[in-house]
Amino acid sequence: MRIPGFITLFICVFLGAQAAAEPADDWRQVPSYTIDVRLDAGAKSLEARESVDYHNASPDTLTQLVFHLYPNAFRDEASPMRRDHWRHHNGRLVDALGDEERGWIDIDSLSVAGSPSEFAVDYTLLRIPLDPPLLPGSSTRIDLVWGGQIRKHSTRSGWRGRQFDMAQWYPKVAVYDADGWDLDPYRKGEFYGEFGSFRVTIDVPADHVVAATGVPTEGNPGWGDARARFDDESPPERDPEERRSVTFEADDVHDFAWCASPDFALIDTTFNGTEIHSFIRSSDGDAWRDSVHVYGARALEWLDRLVGPYPYPQLSLVHGLLSGGMEYPMLVMDGRASEGLVLHEVGHIYFYGILANDETDHAWLDEGFTTWQTTRYLTERYGPNGKKEKLSRYDSLLGPEALWERGRRRHAARLRRGRMEPVDTHSHRFVEAYRDMVYGRASLFLDHLENLLGRETFDRGMRLYYERWALDHVTEDRFREAMEDASGQPLEAVFDAWVRKTDGIDMAIDDVAVEEEPDGSWRSTVTVERIGDIAVPFELHLRGGRGRVGEDENTEVVIDGAGEDRVSELTVVTRERPDAYILDPRGEFADVDRRNDRWPRATSFGIDWPAHAEPDEDAYALRFRPGGWHNDVDGYRLGGNLRLGYGGWFDQSLMGAWWSQERERFDLRLRLSLPSRRLRRWGRDGTHLFTVENIEGLERWEWRFERWGSREKIYPPHHHFGFGISRETVGERLAGAGWERGDTHVLGLFHDVSARPYPFDLSASIGFRRGIESFGGDHGFDRLALGARVTGEVPRSDLRVRLRFLAGLSSEPTPAHERFRVGGAGVRARHEAPWLASPGGVPDDLHVWMPGGGNARGYFGSAGDFAAQRLAAISAEVEGPLPLIGGVVGKALSKPRLFLFVDSASPGGVGVDTAGLGSLDDAGIGIRGSLLGRLPIRLDLPVWLNHPELLGEQDEFGARWMVSIAAPWSAPLIRRNP
Ligand SMILES: [Zn+2]
Repeated sequence: MRIPGFITLFICVFLGAQAAAEPADDWRQVPSYTIDVRLDAGAKSLEARESVDYHNASPDTLTQLVFHLYPNAFRDEASPMRRDHWRHHNGRLVDALGDEERGWIDIDSLSVAGSPSEFAVDYTLLRIPLDPPLLPGSSTRIDLVWGGQIRKHSTRSGWRGRQFDMAQWYPKVAVYDADGWDLDPYRKGEFYGEFGSFRVTIDVPADHVVAATGVPTEGNPGWGDARARFDDESPPERDPEERRSVTFEADDVHDFAWCASPDFALIDTTFNGTEIHSFIRSSDGDAWRDSVHVYGARALEWLDRLVGPYPYPQLSLVHGLLSGGMEYPMLVMDGRASEGLVLHEVGHIYFYGILANDETDHAWLDEGFTTWQTTRYLTERYGPNGKKEKLSRYDSLLGPEALWERGRRRHAARLRRGRMEPVDTHSHRFVEAYRDMVYGRASLFLDHLENLLGRETFDRGMRLYYERWALDHVTEDRFREAMEDASGQPLEAVFDAWVRKTDGIDMAIDDVAVEEEPDGSWRSTVTVERIGDIAVPFELHLRGGRGRVGEDENTEVVIDGAGEDRVSELTVVTRERPDAYILDPRGEFADVDRRNDRWPRATSFGIDWPAHAEPDEDAYALRFRPGGWHNDVDGYRLGGNLRLGYGGWFDQSLMGAWWSQERERFDLRLRLSLPSRRLRRWGRDGTHLFTVENIEGLERWEWRFERWGSREKIYPPHHHFGFGISRETVGERLAGAGWERGDTHVLGLFHDVSARPYPFDLSASIGFRRGIESFGGDHGFDRLALGARVTGEVPRSDLRVRLRFLAGLSSEPTPAHERFRVGGAGVRARHEAPWLASPGGVPDDLHVWMPGGGNARGYFGSAGDFAAQRLAAISAEVEGPLPLIGGVVGKALSKPRLFLFVDSASPGGVGVDTAGLGSLDDAGIGIRGSLLGRLPIRLDLPVWLNHPELLGEQDEFGARWMVSIAAPWSAPLIRRNP
């Protein structure tokens, strides 16, 4: 269609006028609050009168007003918060509150502009229709009389003992901005507030000390008493039946929080005229008494220098009831006297308080920023590991881990596993990576920008952002524009890559060709490949070339590349043949795979320490872990595993060798895992696994191919499948011990699927194996196994339930080692840990058990623990907290849990007379925990079983026990090796 000229002209003029106009969202609403609140400390309740003068600065006519009633998230079981927490497997949060401990707000009366008004409450949202509507530029007043029950402390607010932490405690006007009303109910995630002023009069028992947003302008907050208590002087006796009232005033804040306790002690300091108050508890030790106010002053000094001046008259640091920390304007609550925590929370007064983002929709704009500034503070002050506290003996032996490095490793590990979510995701839409994205990846993004633009430019951009938008709402665009203006560079693509996409940085030296020139100089042609989707300009350093021809020979040879292209070819001529080519030698960028940043590829050697994360170096890591055991046949067996991998990420190969003292020979095991293509399509691509071994009388080789169903493994259902072939020769030594002599040739395949239908975790597996008699195989058979597992939490409790099913069917006669073991994992699983498979490797008296197979644990090790041709089995466990174990045992087991179990297995098949037996049932009790927080361990006591005669006993009830160091229920349902 042809558009007439005058219309084109009109469109141009119209669009031009639009572009020239003020940005449409350069306004914000202005509420001002007057609240009179009375705390009934005995009844844990509030009574209040609240007036809000609301000025409509928007260009829109408002037909309703919306308030948040945050405490109603804790009213009952149907609240959106409770449903959300269920979905994220943390139903305990709300459900743990007993009926007497819940909290809410009730609106007793409400008027608009002096006239009683209708209103509607839907949990945390209060809507008030406006008739007549509120015109742009006009104001109205809302008066509310409300009362509320205070919940027992949960999720940032409530009472415990005699302390009250009051956060999100009052009807609060929702934000109205260019996107309209912020109608997020209180669920997962945090808050968003409208800047305004507060005048809050708090009436408490006369012995309570009050800390709050703002400054006290009337009445007595009790700070004199609290200072006396800090100095160990007895404050004057106050009668808790009498009352104390204090008025706090605060301007330019978007929230108001307060804390009250008869136990607060107070110490003050100042920074640049800002008063700093540290409210601790009278019983707090030196860590609180000596340091928290000092950390507060350091935080203000640091943020003043880094970002801009603190605009408020005071800062209160309160020893809160929460275990972590939480921020409010002029007040933070901290659960620990940690410098990092104080820095993080005070940093939030800047990033959330002063630069006020929507914390629910764009949590990274505050969490990412304050994580970045805290990490930078700690590393600048205490060096790369950012710690002043003493390291544990283990960590100081192995070397402390650098703080940024730790963040990068965590991020890289997630990226490689395909478990990323976009940083800019709505808080309650995150599946599992909220913390790793909005704190971790977002802070790495800021560090990346800092490296990309240079620290000076970046810091200038940060201060510009603050100058422009302090005490206003901020968005990603406002931050990006400040950085673009400071650097003169367009940054949209970088922001997009980090914030909305989920890929990472992986630059690689793909190839190097070196030729000698006729004049004796050396020409290097280096191919640099950008594997990751994030483009970064790179520096390529050449070592040992004695300088570029035509330059001073002491000048280091550095080539700059733009990094935009997928493949770049760089050429340089040097005096001598270089011995190494290195990308990003200072490790500035969070490269996911640094092995390929160097040519030739390098290897580092070291000891494979248990529970120790290796820093990602630009080298393959070759690590040795010595090991040994004693058994009846070999005497002492000594040797170890040699592992070649990278960053604790994939074991590309493993070689184990153990010398037998008695028989004077080696047992060997070799494993190799090779991704089917290059690592870039990591996640989706398949992996080939090769195994060759000769251990404890089993000669075996195997090839297997495995693959994940999708690259993104975060959104269920997840599929994982594979197939392969293997050949096993069982020697004299294993024959009889659950193995049958001869050669077994097997074709096998498996498929696992897992999903999280609310509120359960489900997984199911199917595995099929066929033994073939061709090529000299001794056993022909078919074997089908089906398994399923369900775990979930019991509402309103700290209980977990687990169910496990196994059904196995095989043709007859299947060799013994292919049958289904009744009492636990079969011989093949035990063979994975050779000391368990060795005769006498672990004394029978230790009762070491491995969950698996039919899992009828009461029959483990007995005549009933045979391997059957057919098996149907079910196990159930209910697990809860175990508060009684304390002291040394409790500490060693770290958070032990108690469980009850019931197992039932119905075996059938060759050589088993099941007619008279029926099912083999057992029941009992157990404890599980982790030794020193690292090694999972459990003790099972099957106190009852229905066929005690199989154990040579007479009573169904008896004292029986077994230990297991396998993580319960996490082992594969069906073994994958064909
Ligand atoms: Zn935070």
